[in-house]
Amino acid sequence: PGAAPSLAAAQQLLEDVFGYKSFRFGQADIIQQVLAGGDTQVLLPTGGGKSLCYQLPALLLPGLTLVISPLVSLMDDQVSALKELGISAAAIHSGMQSVEVMNTLRGIQEGNIKLLYLSPERVLQTHFLERLQGLHISLIAIDEAHCISQWGHDFRPEYGQLGVLRNWLPGVPILALTATADAVTRTDIAERLHLQNPHLVQGSFDRPNIRYVVQEKYRNKPQVVDYVKTQSGASGIIYCGSRKRTEEIAERLVRAGVKAAAYHAGLPHEIRQSTLYRFLRDDLHVVVATVAFGMGINKPNVRYVMHYDLPRSIEAYYQETGRAGRDGAPAEAIMFYEPNDARWVRRMLNEQDDSPQVAVERQKFHAMSLFAEAQTCRRLVLLNYFNEFRDKPCMNCDLCLNPPQQYDGTVDAQKALSCVYRTGQQFGVQHVVDVLRGSKQQKIKDYQHDQLSTWGLGKDKKQEYWISVLRQLIHRGLLVQDIRFHSALRLTEEARPVLRGEVALTLAKPRLEAISSEQHVEA
Ligand code: ADP
Ligand code: ZN
Repeated sequence: PGAAPSLAAAQQLLEDVFGYKSFRFGQADIIQQVLAGGDTQVLLPTGGGKSLCYQLPALLLPGLTLVISPLVSLMDDQVSALKELGISAAAIHSGMQSVEVMNTLRGIQEGNIKLLYLSPERVLQTHFLERLQGLHISLIAIDEAHCISQWGHDFRPEYGQLGVLRNWLPGVPILALTATADAVTRTDIAERLHLQNPHLVQGSFDRPNIRYVVQEKYRNKPQVVDYVKTQSGASGIIYCGSRKRTEEIAERLVRAGVKAAAYHAGLPHEIRQSTLYRFLRDDLHVVVATVAFGMGINKPNVRYVMHYDLPRSIEAYYQETGRAGRDGAPAEAIMFYEPNDARWVRRMLNEQDDSPQVAVERQKFHAMSLFAEAQTCRRLVLLNYFNEFRDKPCMNCDLCLNPPQQYDGTVDAQKALSCVYRTGQQFGVQHVVDVLRGSKQQKIKDYQHDQLSTWGLGKDKKQEYWISVLRQLIHRGLLVQDIRFHSALRLTEEARPVLRGEVALTLAKPRLEAISSEQHVEA
């Protein structure tokens, strides 16, 4: 083999074939490494220009470049874009007729094709691998490489087996590309693919135009509707933890006059397809989705991504919120957070066995809840998680723009604590708040809680305020929730000195500015 093609040659092709003046961050570095024949691991944000990192070397390398990609639509898009540039590329995937496949294979045999896109299922078939062995292959590019790792946010079993490529095609350099991977996932990808001293190229994870906001979930679905209404028709995605919930929320939004639809893997293909197209055409303003609405959704003007449920990892959160503001214009990542949800997931994870898998999941979920409960710049927390360290607060997250205010909450804490005590430590947050606010609901009368000295003691404050106080008291360990008994609130030893007025208690003011004064609550 002759000398490796030079970066100068790459630069020339960049202009002549792709029509770009200069490389973007990381591209020259990656291309140089690939041309020199080493393994490379790339972490660049979506839209960072990862495709060029294998498309361009494919033209300079003597043999064929394989591109493994999880999405048929993406493959087809890339192949037709390449053909328009005059580059001979082809794809082989399950959606093709066997005649097409035969023709493509003949083209490859004859050396007429430089780039071959493959689905992982296809490349893993033994007879196909045998065929590949007979070809001159110069590079294997694996797109969306995080799908290889069970610890990533989008594990795909077929992807998990791609490690065999190293054995079948020894000596062929591998380029693994992904937009999102934390340190654990990154190492896992390298191990599973048997990468040899991979050269790591990592771009910044920062998306400065995205504003990160976390709001406490006080009123569930009405809170979502209110938020969407304030966005006046802007394009948005709402992520939920279950299929059922996507449908419930979509339905509510539609009833409120919003052009919204649900999207999840349980819906027929045609419906999902039409929802996607309508969304892309701005005919639909909001898609309420599970994680199934994901990879390959490239809509530039998504103005907000909402999380109605806490994602399982910061990787997933980052990937999902990353769909906002692709056009670079201001966008918002808004999360509705309910500490109880997190406790529930944590408990579920704690009940599982102690396999390394579960341990990693636990760790990842823990990091996610720390983000939701952060008291300092959320962007710093996020970037820190991906090993990107900064010290200047971003001024574009809720905590930077509107830092939580502290105040002496002793008296209100006493009111709340004694209300828990007087109602017999048998009731959950909502009931205690109802008593504090002097509710005249039947259940309050039935328990004769309207006779208590604490009844109506807090009617000067909104219900959100009292929920926040109770949550903080739980947080601080003054109250616990009995999960075996309707999440009833119980006092702990820590509550005594506060109740007796021996210590003062500083609380954080709930940030209610974005919450309308309307006071309906769902059961
Ligand atoms: P990724 O795969 O990282 O999400 P893409 O490869 O799809 O990103 O690239 C995103 C966009 O950037 C594409 O439209 C691509 O043509 C463009 N692009 C890539 N490299 C360059 C470059 N060096 N100069 C200008 N535009 C580029
Ligand atoms: Zn910030």
